[in-house]
Amino acid sequence: MAGQMILLVDCDDVLSDFTTRFREYVKWAHGVDFTYADIQDYQYRTVPGFNPSWWDLCKFPGFAGGMEPLPGAVEAVKKLRVLAEVFCVTSPYHDSHWWMDERLRWLEERLGFDYQHVIFTHRKDMIRGDMLLEDRWDNVATFPGKGVLFDRPWNQTPVGAKELPRVYNWDNVIELCW
Ligand SMILES: [Mg+2]
Repeated sequence: MAGQMILLVDCDDVLSDFTTRFREYVKWAHGVDFTYADIQDYQYRTVPGFNPSWWDLCKFPGFAGGMEPLPGAVEAVKKLRVLAEVFCVTSPYHDSHWWMDERLRWLEERLGFDYQHVIFTHRKDMIRGDMLLEDRWDNVATFPGKGVLFDRPWNQTPVGAKELPRVYNWDNVIELCW
């Protein structure tokens, strides 16, 4: 709708519980059980014994489509659509035949996004919008509009960097936007 705020929302670990899904797959495939707190950076370099080849688990059919929404996300997005045009801006998983299709269907079925409100890109800094809600520190730092971090163990402020606006749950997002 013309004149409405444009709100851009990331999917993994903001709308969808990527981490729980990935932890379940790693445990099933490799017998390793790591915790949220072990994940101190975006590449999982601090997870004990982590092997980058484990990311291939994300390519399995059903992986992207089987995530659960994070607590409060479904209700909050519904509310936010009253005052904003909400787009999901999400990175595609490279080299997967299923990821984008499953993600699109998941966003439609679980969060009520139509396909015209889903943008696949790794370059979130190229997308225009009033606000970006995201768990990845560098995406928030480079976004030309107002970037807001969804607090996670892996996105604590780097030493010497300026603090970015931060929310801790979907209730905080509602408070911030209303
Ligand atoms: Mg994310």
